[in-house]
Amino acid sequence: MIKEGLLEEKRLLIVEFDPNKHNDRTWCFWGEEPIEKNWDFVNFSWNQVQIFGESQSIKPYTYHHCRSEAFYQFVKNALESSEGVDWCLGKVLEAVQLEGQFFVQVKIEGNLDEVYDVDADWFFGSGTAISGQEITLWQSFVGWRVKCNPGAHLFDSKSFRMMDFDIEQAGKTRFLYILPFGDAEALIEVTQFDKEILGLDEGQELLREICEKRNWEVLKMEVECNAIPMSSRFDSVRRFHKAGTRMIPLGVAAGALKPTTGYGFIRMMKHGKAIASALRSNDLIPTLYRKKRFRFYDNLLLRILQNHPTRGKQIFVQLFHHKKASMILRFLNEQTNLLQEIMIFMWLPKRLFIRNLIAKWKG
Ligand SMILES: Cc1cc2nc3c(=O)[nH]c(=O)nc-3n(C[C@H](O)[C@H](O)[C@H](O)COP(=O)(O)OP(=O)(O)OC[C@H]3O[C@@H](n4cnc5c(N)ncnc54)[C@H](O)[C@@H]3O)c2cc1C
Repeated sequence: MIKEGLLEEKRLLIVEFDPNKHNDRTWCFWGEEPIEKNWDFVNFSWNQVQIFGESQSIKPYTYHHCRSEAFYQFVKNALESSEGVDWCLGKVLEAVQLEGQFFVQVKIEGNLDEVYDVDADWFFGSGTAISGQEITLWQSFVGWRVKCNPGAHLFDSKSFRMMDFDIEQAGKTRFLYILPFGDAEALIEVTQFDKEILGLDEGQELLREICEKRNWEVLKMEVECNAIPMSSRFDSVRRFHKAGTRMIPLGVAAGALKPTTGYGFIRMMKHGKAIASALRSNDLIPTLYRKKRFRFYDNLLLRILQNHPTRGKQIFVQLFHHKKASMILRFLNEQTNLLQEIMIFMWLPKRLFIRNLIAKWKG
């Protein structure tokens, strides 16, 4: 908004209820283009991935890493230079746009429990009010940022590890990410797809077992623990919001996360830019629409992961055995064409997919 000059005549109120936004998550993303010059929050990038013990290039992609702490600071620095931004530590209780009105009535609870009513020309809402019952599958993360003895050379800083399934599955779909920042420093993170959220204690126990099994003597520096919904309920079926809509969802609430992977950072960045540009030119506001066939693939895989959680490992291992990682990254980025997708599906357990496809059609 600042870049588009939108805050020269209007003011932006940012309402945030968490007073301690700290390094609560790690964001990774990949792309073909070099990252923007001022994205100094990206502090590590890899051109190779290690799969089944061997490194392979992910050309034309580069996989990037940033700490959320650095990103929050980057945003705060950018906002500081603008006169048009106010911060409020508080909670949005309600936001309503009544029919025929072109403004949004927002109820905000301040930090001293006072409630304020604000009429806003636009409301952009990050954060989701979802209850546990509404989500049938969760992607949980429990990660450790670790250091080891510099002579130990436990990690290969040139290649990251994505979806290492060589860990205890316990009837679920579980894998390990290893993001090495040097020979002796890495983020090791257990990821789980399951109906239940992986708790901190259980996740840490798993990490302890993994380190022991792999003979890794590590010193825990930081812990990361969180979960995101794996659901297609936030998917948009329209490319643009209806004319006159003044309440615009952002992030997870806008369907930014690919339901089967949880990646969404780069889509959120692009969405932000597209919204600001549409506001500038008075165009319809874009949603985070994804092509129908990719929504369909995600729904089918979600169904399988939900109904046959023990088959997740087989599906992904088969895929990584037969296809190059760069092609899988292209597919996950939804940049493949139909022929490439058919070549990918050839390597999936066909009977399982066909059975679930039929069951899905039968409703
Ligand atoms: C541990 C973890 C790791 C992840 N790793 C990756 C990754 O590697 N790559 C990737 O692409 N994606 C990743 N994701 C997914 C996704 O990018 C993040 O979940 C992202 O932070 C979602 O952005 P958001 O704006 O929807 O929600 P959030 O980042 O959670 O932001 C919502 C904000 O709104 C505030 N808020 C919520 N409700 C209210 C309210 N009523 N009033 C006031 N304030 C409110 C919250 O305090 C919060 O600050 C990860 C997610 C998690 C949890």
